[in-house]
Amino acid sequence: MGALDRDRLRQLTRREDARFLATHVRSGELSRSATHLLGGVPMSWMVKWPGAHPVYVESASGAHFTDVDGNSYVDLCLGDTGAMAGHSPAATMAAVRAQLDRGITTMLPSAAALDVSAELARHFGLPSWQFTLTATDANRHALRYARALTGRGKVVVHDWCYHGSVDETFAVLDGSGATIDRPSSIGPAVPVGVTTVVVEFNDLAGLETALATGEIAAVLMEPALTNIGIVLPDPGYLAGVRELTRKYGTLLIIDETHTLCAGPGGSTAAEGLEPDVLVVGKSIGGGIPCAAFGLSAEVAARIERLVRLEDIDVGGIGGTLAGNPLSSAAMAATLREVLTDDAFGRMTDLAVRWTAGVQAAIDEVGAPWHVTRLGCRAEYGFSRDLPRNGAEAAASDDFELQQYVHLYALNRGFLLTPFHNMALMCPATTGADVDAHTEMFGPMMQELFA
Ligand code: PMP
Repeated sequence: MGALDRDRLRQLTRREDARFLATHVRSGELSRSATHLLGGVPMSWMVKWPGAHPVYVESASGAHFTDVDGNSYVDLCLGDTGAMAGHSPAATMAAVRAQLDRGITTMLPSAAALDVSAELARHFGLPSWQFTLTATDANRHALRYARALTGRGKVVVHDWCYHGSVDETFAVLDGSGATIDRPSSIGPAVPVGVTTVVVEFNDLAGLETALATGEIAAVLMEPALTNIGIVLPDPGYLAGVRELTRKYGTLLIIDETHTLCAGPGGSTAAEGLEPDVLVVGKSIGGGIPCAAFGLSAEVAARIERLVRLEDIDVGGIGGTLAGNPLSSAAMAATLREVLTDDAFGRMTDLAVRWTAGVQAAIDEVGAPWHVTRLGCRAEYGFSRDLPRNGAEAAASDDFELQQYVHLYALNRGFLLTPFHNMALMCPATTGADVDAHTEMFGPMMQELFA
């Protein structure tokens, strides 16, 4: 027990591949006719899903979706957090429908933006807000402001981080501790070491070495890594980061796009963090494109002193559709009525239940896997010990195995978050959904580790 037989894994994969093809016939037809899409998909990374072709969605509602072959799924991916409020939540849809007939984008503010900023200030404790359409853009803008305010050229990010398609963040450490382009980075503008210094997560000494150069405008970080599997902060790590960034006059940008799962104010509220800038996106509009960044009073005042009105439209910060009335209406309704304190409580309880089910199945077969959780997000990984940094998490990845568990789950009506093994709960997820996953997961483990 506990050892994985690769030949057996390949055999099982062949079985699951055949089952997938037999039960996803219409998806296959659509996929083969997608001749005008690069790679046959609307966004290149969709080719990476397991199975011979992607699953085409017919409709999604709450915590579930149905594909074009009539298969139904418990959605534990939830659009990789874009649908953390559930698919088409009623309150958001009512606000969006009302707005649709009243204009979608105007380049002028609507009153809803005031409500949203007040909600965000209440949740995260930062007084001043701006909107974008993606978390990528919010991060890009935060980095530009940080460089402008500090007069410094470089930023610090964590090894194996992900913050969207932000040039400065496609960086990893090489074996000698130097910052190099992430192996997957496509067409970097400059070698990333020109703009970026990478440090390991949970390494305060490494961070201090980077900050002490006096070159670092900002640390851009998730309070727990979530994109290379979940890597939780050691006790005292986040407080240490805050202390060091203050000591060296470096701005601390906390990206809560995924860690919002920790509660209504993300890890920032849960852990009492005091970021200079906070980024949040994806889920806060219930799926309608939007994102936001919040500024401390001090940073907001410094920006207002810095930027000339005359130059503000072409300064590298902004977006024509940013802050549009449709996004604002969606955010106001989602934050007030869907992603409520109560909902987070229920979602977190469900993630605890999911984690317990997965842990029991791991223990039962003695698999060298772990399961971990942050609020309403949980994840299993292919190492016995919890990874303490991105490199450890990356080293424990096993693409063949990962593709298999996703395919096995998909064939039985569960969508996990790619491209690791993550499950997210939304307000519409039920105990029955979670228990059904546990009932699917146990036999999969028995078969894998028999
Ligand atoms: N920040 C984090 C932490 C993310 O995980 C992501 C996307 N996975 C982003 C930013 C970028 O979001 P988007 O693709 O919506 O720009």
